[in-house]
Amino acid sequence: MMKTLDLIVPCYNEEAVLPLFYETVRKTVSSLPGYRATLIFVDDGSTDGTLRALKSFAARDASVRYLSFSRNFGKESAMLAGLRASQSDLVAFLDADLQHDPALLGPMLEALEEGYDVAAAKRTDRAGENKLKSKLSDAFYRAANRITEVEIDPGAQDFRVMKRKVADAILSLSEHRRFTKGMFAFVGFKTKWFPHENAERAAGDTKWNYKKLLSYAADGIFAYSDLPLRLPLYGGLSLLAGSVLFALVLLIVRLCGVHVPGTLGVLFAVLFLAALILLCVGVFGEYLARVYGEAKGRPHYIVSESNLPSARKP
Ligand code: UDP
Ligand code: MG
Repeated sequence: MMKTLDLIVPCYNEEAVLPLFYETVRKTVSSLPGYRATLIFVDDGSTDGTLRALKSFAARDASVRYLSFSRNFGKESAMLAGLRASQSDLVAFLDADLQHDPALLGPMLEALEEGYDVAAAKRTDRAGENKLKSKLSDAFYRAANRITEVEIDPGAQDFRVMKRKVADAILSLSEHRRFTKGMFAFVGFKTKWFPHENAERAAGDTKWNYKKLLSYAADGIFAYSDLPLRLPLYGGLSLLAGSVLFALVLLIVRLCGVHVPGTLGVLFAVLFLAALILLCVGVFGEYLARVYGEAKGRPHYIVSESNLPSARKP
């Protein structure tokens, strides 16, 4: 029996690369016997001709589905929308810029046949990527893995194919601020990793900037660790011990008859403590903001149009 495979493709201003992407992927999936593939494009509020391109694919190809957001909600929301729209046996995530080599889909599907639940791509090099960005990202994953409850592979990419049960597990995580790599690590399952060279973008520009990357990294830490919440406690205890020691030293010096001018010490202590308190409040604020975000229960995205059959509308 033919297995159904949904390929979820988040697109944000990808007009330049979409025709090439579509042709390449179509060719690849038609050479995969035993699978009936559907392309689910999620237009993440693009301002260029992305939606027009998607509509033209859909007009001539019945296996193309698209949904278009009312504005840019981010790649994580686009991937969630794609997952919700999918009902297939197997689900794949693929970037629109052809940095994720569709030729890897064949071996990935074979791995699932062999009994793996997830087949995921892992970066082997960072050619074509900004040096500073790579360094920052490596440092982030090292730090994150040390303090979070899940182990995230630093080279892990969003490029993967999974079985229905894995897709359902990811869907069962309802948090608002989504960090897919962390969620995959959290749900577990038998994963086979595929080394994957980082290809240059086929066309168009990257949509990431340092602000987006920083907020993505922060989500990764704050969503998966409560160590920052406990830091004030540890800091407070150490500071208490330190200050008792400091007071003892002052007392001994005083008892030895030496005069100690107090103003400088007091000034330092006031500034230091104020900074520390602000820092702690900031950490609480981080979590509070996230709790607030979740409590508001707003939708992850808003769809303005789609060609999904109405029963499958998210
Ligand atoms: N993307 C998206 N919404 C965004 C940013 C990116 O749907 O707000 C999509 C983008 O169209 C591409 C994928 O996510 O298909 C990866 O984005 P990009 O290539 O810009 O990131 P990079 O590969 O440079 O990390
Ligand atoms: Mg890219």
